[in-house]
Amino acid sequence: MTRPLLLLDVDGPLAPYVGSPYRRPDGYLTHRVPVRSWRERQLASGIRNPRPLRVWLHPEHGPALLALPYDLVWATTWKDEANQHLAPLLGLPELPYVDWPSMHHGDPEGLHWKTRHLVAWAAGRPFAWVDDEIQPRDTAWIAAHHPAPALTLTVDHRYGLRPGDFAALADWAERSRS
Ligand SMILES: [Mg+2]
Repeated sequence: MTRPLLLLDVDGPLAPYVGSPYRRPDGYLTHRVPVRSWRERQLASGIRNPRPLRVWLHPEHGPALLALPYDLVWATTWKDEANQHLAPLLGLPELPYVDWPSMHHGDPEGLHWKTRHLVAWAAGRPFAWVDDEIQPRDTAWIAAHHPAPALTLTVDHRYGLRPGDFAALADWAERSRS
């Protein structure tokens, strides 16, 4: 039996963020990551020597994700840069990633810009989608258009993934198997 996909957003669930840079959640480590796309954006906005992007990551999240009965997939604007920069810091192997045809576009039904593409990408496989920006209308649209079970898990971007989120993912995988 194939395992469900775990479609992983980065900013929010794995890399929490808040208004203040001094409020790092417990257990996280601070990294400076030389992200190519970030550097290009900084240079384009006139910053001459941009510092590498600051990212908070939890070193136990990689092992905890690998212990879940899912096939992990990056579903993030980081795209292939998640493998390059984040996977080694999290203790994850190289993972497949969703290569978005476009990002941050508007949607005629007000859906999140990822929603339709993730359903197409999953191609009928059960999936859990972990993201800090999922709205009830995304969950409803997925339920109506995806032919297999799907879980949407909205994570608080201030805290990132917490033990209750991992428990919910494990429970859902267990229940959707039976
Ligand atoms: Mg996010």
